[in-house]
Parts: sequence; structure tokens; C-alpha cells
Amino acid sequence: MTEPVALRLDDVGAASKQHEVYGVTRIRVGPLALPFPGNFLFLKYLPPIKRWAPYPELTAAQWEEILAALSAAGARLTVAVTAGWVERDGRVVPFPEKFPAQARVLRQGLERGLVEIANHGYTHCVLEDGLFRPRLFSGNRPYHREFYDWLPDAAHREHLGAAQGILAAWLGTAPETLVPPGNVLSPKAVAAAAAAGIRFISRAGGAPPGAPEGVTFVDDARVVAFHDRDIVRGGIGYLRAQLESRRGARFVTVAELGRLAQAAR
Ligand SMILES: [Zn+2]
Repeated sequence: MTEPVALRLDDVGAASKQHEVYGVTRIRVGPLALPFPGNFLFLKYLPPIKRWAPYPELTAAQWEEILAALSAAGARLTVAVTAGWVERDGRVVPFPEKFPAQARVLRQGLERGLVEIANHGYTHCVLEDGLFRPRLFSGNRPYHREFYDWLPDAAHREHLGAAQGILAAWLGTAPETLVPPGNVLSPKAVAAAAAAGIRFISRAGGAPPGAPEGVTFVDDARVVAFHDRDIVRGGIGYLRAQLESRRGARFVTVAELGRLAQAAR
């Protein structure tokens, strides 16, 4: 039987696409990599100096196209959604409130069995002290991860509980799969995730050292992970190419990979 493969699309609803701004800090000139002030003021917003953000959220029309492409290929997709959109002032707006049209289409995709919705954190970033905001003179990439070990237990519990609550209210049931932003994961977050109903964690490298029992880790051996940014920039052709290059594959969701892993134990 063909080996299963899971496609995973990350960063839907993550405000890091607005706030995670950093620039090129070295420029190649022949054999030299010269320092370049790519994080200075506005320079980090200008292509080709800007490296990640800002870029727009996928629209409802783009989601319709994605569902049509999945359906045509007989494929499924795990969509990792960040449950809260962080406004510049630090307010957190639930995904279905911030992006109601996209939320409707995604929910239809779930009902049609074309997508799994996974938890991609509550904020995708550190909220404390406004650390997520763009800086005037430096990049801010380190603060666009959520489940750091230096954060207290309570922060992990609050973020995972809030995310599961928003996603369950939207979908009718809470997600079973967690995709930790940027693969950063504290054992504290693993315990909090298990308590919040998470059964599977999708992460390159699998379990972090010291992770407690209670969840099944799905490493990246059979997961193809990409970002909404890839489709925003490459169009639906990006997804079609992913599907085309695996024609005949057995597409499953990340949760299904987790269940297969459990059954094999
Ligand atoms: Zn992410």
C-alpha cells in the first residue's frame, strides 16, 4: 500500500504576517558578506530587503480555490490556524470574528472532509511588553514564537485553553492537533495541550526533551509543511504543484498520521 502523506498549511490567521518584520543584514559583494542596515527604519519593509512580513491573509475566494483543488485531487489538507489575531495595540480578536468570510469557507471545507483544522497557537507570538511589535532599529523574529520554556506554566495553559476555546466555538469540536509556531515547544506547553484536549502534536523532530506523556508526536517524516505565504505569493499554482508532484499519493490529515502511529505501537 502507498505510504500516507499529510500536507500541512501553517499561519492562517496569524498576525505575525503583519508584525514579524526583519530585514537582510548582510549583502554579498563578491566573496564578502558586508553588513547592511536592513533593519533600519523603513528599509525592512521594502523588497528585496524585507524577509517575511508583511503579506495579506488568504481571502475567502482563495480558500474556495484551495478546496476545489483538494477536491479535484482527492486530497486533504491540515490547516493550522492561529486562533487569535493580535492587533497592534495588543488586543486579541478571535479568528472567526476577524475573518468571518474565510472562517465560513474553512468550516465548509471541514464539513466536506477536505480539511482538518489544527491549533497553531493563540497568538503565534509573545504578547508580554509588546515584544511582538516591529522595532525601529532591529528585527523582532524571536518574539514571533509562542511556546517558549522561559514563559510560566500559566501562560502556556492560558494560551492553549483560549485557542482551543475559540476554535471549538467556531467548529463545534476542539482540534485534536497542535502545530507549535516555529517548532518552538516547551514541555510545559505539552502538558497544557494534553489538558486542553490535544492528542497529536505535529513538529519537526518530534517530542522535545522532557516532554510528558499523554500526546502522540507526529514528526515531519510524512508531513509536507508550507505556509499561507507560499500561496499568497505563488497563487493556487503553488498548491497544485504540491498535489501534482505527489499524484497517486494517499493524502491524509496530520491527525490521521497520529492515529496510524498510535495503532502501530
Ligand atoms: Zn507559524
